[in-house]
Amino acid sequence: MPAPPKKAIVIGGSLGGLFTGNMLREAGWDVDIFERSQHDLDSRGGGVVLQPDVVEVFKHLDTVFPQNELGVPSRSRRTFRPDGSVQSEQLAPQVQTSWSLIYTSMKKAFGDEHYHQGRKLIDIRQDEAAKKVTAIFEDGSEETGDLLIGADGNSSTVRQIFWPEDKPRYAGYLAWRGLVPESEIPPEAAQGLVGDFGFANNKGSHMLGYLVPGEGNDLRDGHRLYNWVWYRVADYEELARIMTDRDGKPRGFSMPEGKLLDEWKAHVYDEADEYLPPNFRAMVRATKEPFAQAIRDLTVGTMVKGRVALIGDAAFIPRPHTAASTSKAAANALSLANTLVRYPEDTDAALKAWEPQQIAIGNALYQQGTRTGNYLMFHQQPLTPL
Ligand SMILES: Cc1cc2nc3c(=O)[nH]c(=O)nc-3n(C[C@H](O)[C@H](O)[C@H](O)COP(=O)(O)OP(=O)(O)OC[C@H]3O[C@@H](n4cnc5c(N)ncnc54)[C@H](O)[C@@H]3O)c2cc1C
Repeated sequence: MPAPPKKAIVIGGSLGGLFTGNMLREAGWDVDIFERSQHDLDSRGGGVVLQPDVVEVFKHLDTVFPQNELGVPSRSRRTFRPDGSVQSEQLAPQVQTSWSLIYTSMKKAFGDEHYHQGRKLIDIRQDEAAKKVTAIFEDGSEETGDLLIGADGNSSTVRQIFWPEDKPRYAGYLAWRGLVPESEIPPEAAQGLVGDFGFANNKGSHMLGYLVPGEGNDLRDGHRLYNWVWYRVADYEELARIMTDRDGKPRGFSMPEGKLLDEWKAHVYDEADEYLPPNFRAMVRATKEPFAQAIRDLTVGTMVKGRVALIGDAAFIPRPHTAASTSKAAANALSLANTLVRYPEDTDAALKAWEPQQIAIGNALYQQGTRTGNYLMFHQQPLTPL
């Protein structure tokens, strides 16, 4: 009689958790995902550059998703000087998608039965002799399995339990972000931006933008969103003031849409006039609810402790200039599933084989991201990123 499937407990039900859940299930494992949020997660479609590893996960689930409907294509990469003239232009066709499109697709593929909302992990117990691991949740419940995956993001509880010394570090700048419905883009903003991947550099300032799928993953012309990301230097004290929301609540390192204080909205619009070329300036001013995210660095020396493994942002946070956070989570998940298939009888051997390459990928992205980001933000010479 064949052995019963092994069981994986995935902590975190965002993209990393869902990539892992779908891929491990395909590899023959029983998988349960535990997400602390009571509700579906929502980012109203913030932009993600579509990278090959994410497409690869979609391919594994291709009975569910048409491959031509994953995002919005752009033609060229065009960099503007502050006066609005074109500094450089390269033909570089690529596709941009949204966090929401990936999330809703991956969640639909995984289904609801084994996706548990409102379950916050607070502790983990490992039984080395039995080769079992138990997740302990805030509501007092427990789940035991053969493997626990920490896909619980940049402030990972799993990492805090087993890797307490590894913490994210603020990089000295933040990203102001915004989404503008295509139908509301003013003509002066559309110029040179819509249909292409736009950039603009200035001292302590790096701007980029592109179209992404609209509400409900709508890809039709006129129904999409323009997504912009504007990196600006800010010291720690200023960051803390930006990250205090309308109700006076400190938000830590990210401020969601609709929560930014009016004085910071005014600050973003005013600084746009000072630092950005006319098209991006108009785009920022057309944004009703800018939001913000601090840029942080995280690296770890190991990703496996016994039957616990970290993936995605829980292990490494690559700077967004690499456009690789989401694809790294997908790469971690694809590789983990492949390796577990290669070692069906020996999960420990599989984890040992999986870990070194994932650490190498994380470190390479860390180096690429910090080099690019520090150059863009702390040196004056404009540079088009990779
Ligand atoms: C709501 C949301 C919106 C986002 N929007 C964008 C975007 O527009 N563009 C972009 O590039 N990136 C976005 N990201 C980040 C992006 O998802 C990640 O950088 C990348 O995909 C790696 O994801 P991850 O799953 O490793 O981490 P994350 O996406 O951070 O997910 C971690 C998940 O773990 C859950 N969690 C944390 N602690 C616990 C716990 N103790 N118990 C149970 N669950 C826990 C969190 O609620 C979260 O859902 C967003 C993330 C979230 C959560």
